[in-house]
Amino acid sequence: MPTALTLNPSEIRSLSAEFESAPPAEMLRWAFELFGNEAAIGTSFQGAGLVTIHQAVTAGIPLPVFTIDTGLLFEETLELKTRLERFFGIVIESLVPELSVEQQAHEIAPDLWISNPDLCCTLRKVEPLQKKLGRLEAWITGLRRDQSAGRSKTQILELYQFDRLREKNILKVNPLARWSRVEVWDYIRLHGIPYNPLVDRGFRSIGCYPCTRAVISGQDERAGRWTGFDKTECGIHTFLGENI
Ligand code: SF4
Repeated sequence: MPTALTLNPSEIRSLSAEFESAPPAEMLRWAFELFGNEAAIGTSFQGAGLVTIHQAVTAGIPLPVFTIDTGLLFEETLELKTRLERFFGIVIESLVPELSVEQQAHEIAPDLWISNPDLCCTLRKVEPLQKKLGRLEAWITGLRRDQSAGRSKTQILELYQFDRLREKNILKVNPLARWSRVEVWDYIRLHGIPYNPLVDRGFRSIGCYPCTRAVISGQDERAGRWTGFDKTECGIHTFLGENI
């Protein structure tokens, strides 16, 4: 079994360019054949994640699926997880933070998302994800270029150095990088895939309830996250800066 460290960065760049015109299922099959269960789909149940899971399940590619349950998700999101498990016939692993929301309030600060949202995201999202990535070689994401200016340069394959101390790289696979929001939602409706009812109430990118607002038309997809803060990412895609 190869590891992400043994992959040659120039080969990854050329394969990534080839995948620009391939269907997502082709990339998912490639990842599964190369890494087996050490490749996994990470999703917060946004549109692109739903399409990715559908592409894998309908093509018979048994990639594991995981999500991060911060303890601060909307009730609608938790219900959606159950509906998706039933719809796809899969089990979705929930990664949870070390501290419960109550422990965090007691040991660090109440409402940490107001006083220090970066620390809150680190404790509740980044750290559980880092632990999971330590057991994986490929992380399949729902990143899309048209989600925000910060995501506009997303490549289909990226080597991501997530643990400098151990020099561990992981391959990020972004099969829907080139898809538009319209394409994603046409696909979801065409295939009758369950989705978060908050979408129909103006929420375009849905995370924890203290940090998510509906957006107005014409705004970036992620404009409703961390309103009032100079923050557009929780850190799970940026915690070590540059991709390789
Ligand atoms: S999105 Fe908000 S509530 Fe959720 S982990 Fe980040 S700061 Fe905390």
